[in-house]
Amino acid sequence: MKPVRRRAAALALLAAALCAPAIAQPPGGQPAPSAAASFDYGLRPRQVADGVHVLVGRSEDFSPANGGNIVNTGFIVGSSGVIVIDTGPSKRYGEQLRAAIARVTPLPVVLTLNTHHHPDHFLGNQAFPPETIAALPQTAAAIEAEGNAFNENMYRLAGDWMRDTEVVVPRRQITPGRRTVGGRDVEFVALGGHTAADLVLIDHASGTVFASDLVFNHRAPTTPHADIRRWMDALETLAALPARLWVPGHGEVSADASPLAATRDYLGWLQRSIDEAAAAGLDMAETLARPLPPRFAGFAVAEHEYRRSVVHLFPAAERAVLEAPPERRD
Ligand SMILES: [Zn+2]
Repeated sequence: MKPVRRRAAALALLAAALCAPAIAQPPGGQPAPSAAASFDYGLRPRQVADGVHVLVGRSEDFSPANGGNIVNTGFIVGSSGVIVIDTGPSKRYGEQLRAAIARVTPLPVVLTLNTHHHPDHFLGNQAFPPETIAALPQTAAAIEAEGNAFNENMYRLAGDWMRDTEVVVPRRQITPGRRTVGGRDVEFVALGGHTAADLVLIDHASGTVFASDLVFNHRAPTTPHADIRRWMDALETLAALPARLWVPGHGEVSADASPLAATRDYLGWLQRSIDEAAAAGLDMAETLARPLPPRFAGFAVAEHEYRRSVVHLFPAAERAVLEAPPERRD
């Protein structure tokens, strides 16, 4: 048993990690909300390839200042309809995304994807036709099971931006494969690791890959539902795709695969570092206090996400050491 004093210190640090305030970061791709009172996200779709538009969120944590706009969403305009990739963190965001799409094209939204069940990716669903909202089966089930808890938490983190936001569970199931949607040649790839089910969309005409939260760019990955080894395998699968443009779940769009390698590097280091700390007999407080390698120092919210990840991942690493056969303990 560890001394009670150390347990208390670990608990204090754990509480600090869970309650850490949003960390201010330099602005990301979107302009700051012009005035919080107007609840205008200032969404400006950027055309990154023919018919492919992306809205890059800020590289921050959720806060009342950003209204939860820390996520990338996008849409693809085909010859007969529009595919929407994720709906953002709130009803207001969804409505403003829908309006932004309408400024680009009069075509109807024919498919609205939720790439995974995290709140910033599906809480804008109310603004879209319910019959168009689709996800992998496990994602729909997770939204049904956990959506309300996520929604309540988002009200706490982002405040009035969330007003009237309610969970809409995707009705349509996505099956992996290549097909024509809205006149566009697209492919659905079912992967996992960031969550139990992470949906990737390939637009074959432009070579654009919407990589969901399997890829972060210059922003520390979040791991509350992560299976790190599966996630690293998924990144290997993605790296083999013939992509010309990568749209990560968070961070800037990239013309090369460097964000995949960086995400993989970070995750590998994170798991190794936590496993080594547990094997060396460190407790959670000591693990939380370890410095990040300089190569990750430039990632937005790195310290904050490291603390969250240790809180999520350390107990299992510690258990694995304690449950290992005695000969493997030293
Ligand atoms: Zn996520």
